[in-house]
Amino acid sequence: MALIVHKYGGTSMGSTERIRSVAQRVAKWVRAGHQLVVVPSAMSGETNRLLGLAKELLPAGAQASSPDALRELDAIAATGEQVSVGLLALALQAQGLQAVSYGGWQVPIRTDSSFTKARITSIEETRVRADLAAGKVVVITGFQGIDEAGNVTTLGRGGSDTSAVAVAAALKADECLIYTDVDGVYTTDPRIVPEARRLTSISFEEMLEMASLGSKVLQIRSVEFAGKYRVPLRVLSSFTPWDIALDEEARSGTLITFEEDEKMEQAVVAGIAFNRDEAKISVIGVPDKPGIAFQILGPVADANIDIDVIIQNMSHSGRTDFSFTVHRNDYVRTMEVLKTQVLPALGAADVQGDPKICKVSIVGIGMRSHVGVASKMFRTLSEEAINIQMITTSEIKTSVVIDEKYMELAVRALHKAFDLDQPVTLGMASAAESDAQAG
Ligand code: ASP
Ligand code: MG
Repeated sequence: MALIVHKYGGTSMGSTERIRSVAQRVAKWVRAGHQLVVVPSAMSGETNRLLGLAKELLPAGAQASSPDALRELDAIAATGEQVSVGLLALALQAQGLQAVSYGGWQVPIRTDSSFTKARITSIEETRVRADLAAGKVVVITGFQGIDEAGNVTTLGRGGSDTSAVAVAAALKADECLIYTDVDGVYTTDPRIVPEARRLTSISFEEMLEMASLGSKVLQIRSVEFAGKYRVPLRVLSSFTPWDIALDEEARSGTLITFEEDEKMEQAVVAGIAFNRDEAKISVIGVPDKPGIAFQILGPVADANIDIDVIIQNMSHSGRTDFSFTVHRNDYVRTMEVLKTQVLPALGAADVQGDPKICKVSIVGIGMRSHVGVASKMFRTLSEEAINIQMITTSEIKTSVVIDEKYMELAVRALHKAFDLDQPVTLGMASAAESDAQAG
């Protein structure tokens, strides 16, 4: 008997018919002797619908960022998951199981008070444990929690992944299965590269990079959580027939693994991520002296704007250019901060921006032990005549910022150059396959 957490995404919960098939799948696991906690998202489209309604009624001129408004946005958005858990518990009962649903506040799942992007601080497991011991399936809302003052909070879009992993960590579950509308983690987005392959396993560190670089399969915080508490995590499809053999289901999808054995390292590049949500900003003609980066980025950070890639060149004439990227949604605000606060104080010549850029990254733990990976990336892009505007690297990834219009071309060319479209050759395949099976 194992304690298993299942998470079902919005599409998997998209209709009463689908919820019934989720219940059938869960029932299969329970009948095989496992204890189940299930964390569903809101029905697909529901969170958007709720937030759309909220937007219509935001007081005129009010920022959706005022703390009072944000509190209400969370109160509204959290109802999507509230409905899901009740429906799923009913569907489970209809399967002849004992099932009980809880909102985040009932467990409780405690968070800080950062409305719309709260962080989980603790989860009380007593109630859930008692239910499990009594033979019940426990259904817990994704996405939401409760702060110290008793306010309902949400964890940010896609936050149900994080709820599920956090619940699994708190209960020390044997595995957390993330059921979604794709059948695993791919070498890149198959909508851009039809030859993209599903990975049978990926290391936790690679997954962390993929998630932070734009792969939308898992919310990044869920991967961070899984890493911190070493929660065994698997991404798999909820669209296989619910009655496929449990063994087969338990081995399907992509396992996120913590073991970096030698065989896995043979895959130098595991995948290609991309992100078109960024914008580039350059402050031109900055004096080259101590404190400049802080003077430029301090006010940006104070405005609560996240900065991603940063580049500062050497100066020859005592002046230099300073470039960085931010989320595209923050572009206008960042330009404003720079023009009103930074330029006058700095005496920099100008600020220029380009919201039409994208970031393309290659990711792989094999990059640690292989040389020439980044240069192969640059050669590939140069052969396609794609100009690289910025470069940033870490131990296991290389990212480039390029013109947005070349994104698909770059991703396709790199996917091919690193042989990610090839059916895995013997050494790698067997390693990946056996990893998955061992899990
Ligand atoms: N329902 C929430 C959203 O759409 C949370 C989730 O689905 O993970 O973002
Ligand atoms: Mg999701």
